[in-house]
Amino acid sequence: MTNAEVIARSAAYEMSVYARQPVAFVRGDGCELWDADGKRYLDFFAGLAVNNLGHCHPAVVAAIREQSALLLHASNVYHTPPAGELCALLCRHSFAERVFLSNSGAEANEAAMKLARRWGSNDGGGRFEILATIGSFHGRTFGTLTATGQEKYHTGFQPLLPGIRLVPFGDLAAMAGAVRDETVAIMVEPIQGEGGVVVPPRDYLPGLRALADRRKLLLILDEIQCGLGRTGRLFAHEHAGMEPDIMTIAKALGGGLPIGATCTTARIAAAFTPGAHGSTFGGNPVTCAAGVAALRALADPTLLEHVRAVGDHFRTRLEGLGRCGGIRNVRGMGLMLGVELDGPGAAVVSRCLAAGLLINCTADRILRFLPPLVITRAQVDEGFAILERALAA
Ligand code: PLP
Repeated sequence: MTNAEVIARSAAYEMSVYARQPVAFVRGDGCELWDADGKRYLDFFAGLAVNNLGHCHPAVVAAIREQSALLLHASNVYHTPPAGELCALLCRHSFAERVFLSNSGAEANEAAMKLARRWGSNDGGGRFEILATIGSFHGRTFGTLTATGQEKYHTGFQPLLPGIRLVPFGDLAAMAGAVRDETVAIMVEPIQGEGGVVVPPRDYLPGLRALADRRKLLLILDEIQCGLGRTGRLFAHEHAGMEPDIMTIAKALGGGLPIGATCTTARIAAAFTPGAHGSTFGGNPVTCAAGVAALRALADPTLLEHVRAVGDHFRTRLEGLGRCGGIRNVRGMGLMLGVELDGPGAAVVSRCLAAGLLINCTADRILRFLPPLVITRAQVDEGFAILERALAA
């Protein structure tokens, strides 16, 4: 099939919820993708921070092959080895002592919010309110949508969930002032992704930790986009020298397969007793085998060092663009980078696509760069040759 044929069939039969680019991908390898017409693209997008290891990482593909020949699914009524192995690995590499596995970021956050409420209903003295932030993105389920501080995603879905309130992001005083008697948890992204690659002040996460401790709140960090090596540390909160009570991850964890994980301490996890929560496909053996292979590769200190070095190079190249193409500022950490433009960025994205480079625009005027973490300096430079022309056009 050609690009046009794939696109025509999608248009005829798929619900139209995505503003899609006019291209159909059929193959990927490392930082490169090929469309149905055989055209090659360089990837500065990584499937929206999923393909952190590049496309079809050999260790992930081998793990999927091996596990899929053994057992595809058994149900959470039983145990299977890969789920426990993945949870053990997550605990070894983080503050966590217990993990709940699901299938997406929204589900990981939904579980985090339910866990906080469940903990609040008992250990938390009946408290239930969750404070989230303006500009955030936490998912599309009703709970996570309510915690998503962007009006455009709410349109037509009201009434949303009670007991969730939005507070300005990056503003410690506003968060402290918002805490009420019924507040049980604070939920934030260490760096807002969808909201426009917004990095909070350095004292924000340590300040939230102190506030949570002072007011006996649970601090939930959504590391779904910024976690798993993206910022040059395995988890973004490591830069701030603090730990959350609950952390959610998804996206890159499955190496390209759908997965979500809600990570916490044994003390908080005790609020989830058998029957309190669950998911038919959560902890699926094939996804978890892929996750084990992916997490081993993502936690490799050599890869994380590479992210910091190539991230510095990428940022220097972005700063080198100066005022070219109406750039106002450069922001982000590691290989989670953005530039704010004077006007909408959609045309720049289209020109890059036509020239064989995948980039993204979020929050209307923020060009967002989330390349695979394995990208080389030479590939960054190849992409910048296209980006410069697209910005200048
Ligand atoms: N949280 C953050 C920070 C995200 O960036 C996303 C997706 O972009 C989600 C949650 C939702 O993840 P999913 O689309 O897998 O449900």
